[in-house]
Amino acid sequence: MITDTDTHRATTEPVLRIDGLRKEFPGAVALDGVSCEIRREEVVGIVGPNGAGKSTLFNCIMGVHDPTDGQVHLNDEEITAEFTSRIVRSGVSRTFQLARVFPDLTVRENMVANQDHADEHILKTVVADAESTPRIDDLVELVGLWDLRDRKAGELSTGQKKLLTIAASLLQDPEIVLLDEPTAGVNPNLVDDIIETVVELNDNGATFCIIEHDMDVIQTLSDYIYVLNNGTNLVEGTPDVALEDPAVLEAYFGE
Ligand code: ADP
Ligand code: MG
Repeated sequence: MITDTDTHRATTEPVLRIDGLRKEFPGAVALDGVSCEIRREEVVGIVGPNGAGKSTLFNCIMGVHDPTDGQVHLNDEEITAEFTSRIVRSGVSRTFQLARVFPDLTVRENMVANQDHADEHILKTVVADAESTPRIDDLVELVGLWDLRDRKAGELSTGQKKLLTIAASLLQDPEIVLLDEPTAGVNPNLVDDIIETVVELNDNGATFCIIEHDMDVIQTLSDYIYVLNNGTNLVEGTPDVALEDPAVLEAYFGE
């Protein structure tokens, strides 16, 4: 957590910069010129009603979709519409709303499988090399899954799977991690574990951009928030200010 967000924002360069991103699908404009910035060691929240364009934004950042217009920069490097594998190697990683794990692999094996973005058919040969094993163990411990390290991932709860994918997303020490709805579908008694894990990883230097529906979660975690609506920037600011903005209340609750 940044102690003085406004000063931090005014005095540091963004790690990830999105400028005027536009994405047209046949029959729908999902993004209509969205801009936002994430700075080192920040937790930035992306919120907005259903259909606002949040998932499309992540998919454009990751190279899953080619934007119709606009740019994405990681530090000073333009990564717009690069191959996803290249974007990941440059230092952007993500987790998904529905946690993607390999159910028949153990927790620790999943860390390696994610590292290599392996296909199911070669997973039988998954082994951690000596170099990455300590970091895998550290991360598994940090997210609170140490006791389950040799358990098959398919036996984990939704929340535990999400913790596993958060751990895996950090293995390559990325510049920034995009978390898509980290608490969605998670048993309420595990939501606090996820919040605490993100806080701890952030204290250890990780930078996050988070899509999240739960306003309490986003308020607790975020240094700064961008509210999207209909594919455009509606409001931005620190959570206390942005979430109280009349335009935001209108977008969520108005007709
Ligand atoms: P959010 O994640 O904020 O709920 P999305 O980014 O999923 O919003 O969607 C934004 C808009 O773009 C919606 O109107 C949605 O129907 C549309 N959209 C998203 N993906 C596609 C797609 N692959 N094809 C057509 N329309 C899409
Ligand atoms: Mg979405």
